[in-house]
Amino acid sequence: MGMIRSIETVTAQRVIAGKTISVSVVQRKQTPNKLSIAFNAVLGLLKGMWLTLTYFWSPEKVVTRMYPENRDTLQLTERFRGNLRFKFPNETAHKSHAALLEHITHETQTLPEVASEWIRDEDPTRWYHNCTGCSKCEEACPNASIRILTRQGEILEDREIDRFVWRLDSCMFCNACVLACPWDAIEMTGGFENAVYDRRLLVYCLNKLAGPRINLIQDEQDAAVRARMIDPRERFGGPIPMNGAGLPNLPPVALPAPPDVSTGAA
Ligand code: SF4
Ligand code: SF4
Repeated sequence: MGMIRSIETVTAQRVIAGKTISVSVVQRKQTPNKLSIAFNAVLGLLKGMWLTLTYFWSPEKVVTRMYPENRDTLQLTERFRGNLRFKFPNETAHKSHAALLEHITHETQTLPEVASEWIRDEDPTRWYHNCTGCSKCEEACPNASIRILTRQGEILEDREIDRFVWRLDSCMFCNACVLACPWDAIEMTGGFENAVYDRRLLVYCLNKLAGPRINLIQDEQDAAVRARMIDPRERFGGPIPMNGAGLPNLPPVALPAPPDVSTGAA
């Protein structure tokens, strides 16, 4: 097909089924100049080759990433969204083993050699969160990819988060849930290595603890009461079947062991 030079619309009278009606006819004029077509084709080819050559001489301009070889140094743009996760305000503070040990010995007034035994069992303060279970994110999600399960708090006798269920398999990473959250409790991260062989494993429980938000726990002075305010929640656990039993046409599947949260693996 030749190159379209211009498009003109003319109105004409047509007789159709005995009736005269006005129709708009779009006329497409094609250039008969084959030399011009060949010239444009060669010009486009040369432009592409010139771009390739500039990358050859200036490798710093190359934007292609050598993934997965560069996994350790890979930096994605801030705007990239690959994973929804909870924000854990204490997570960074307790990331290293030494910091975690110091924190636990200080909080519990225990000898370090005793406290170091506990670290394998996880320091729960690391997973304190900001979620109130208000369900604003669930309401904002256009794909129904979020399900908020709440419970009646035993200590504060108020609604608090039980499980934050996120379905990666239906999420379109629009960020609406993050923007809707009034408590800045969730965020989108650049983690994108989510591939699994079974899509039933793309259902996550994002919170690692059930219970009230961080400031309400930390305001409580009694350590024993604080401990009663929270309960661990496994990533692949919950009252709704996260092994796929709730998904149509898919039988349940045996789940892998939950990740070792003591190393901070998400
Ligand atoms: S990113 Fe969009 S689609 Fe995904 S869970 Fe949030 S609101 Fe729903
Ligand atoms: S993540 Fe935010 S919007 Fe969603 S339930 Fe928790 S506090 Fe509410």
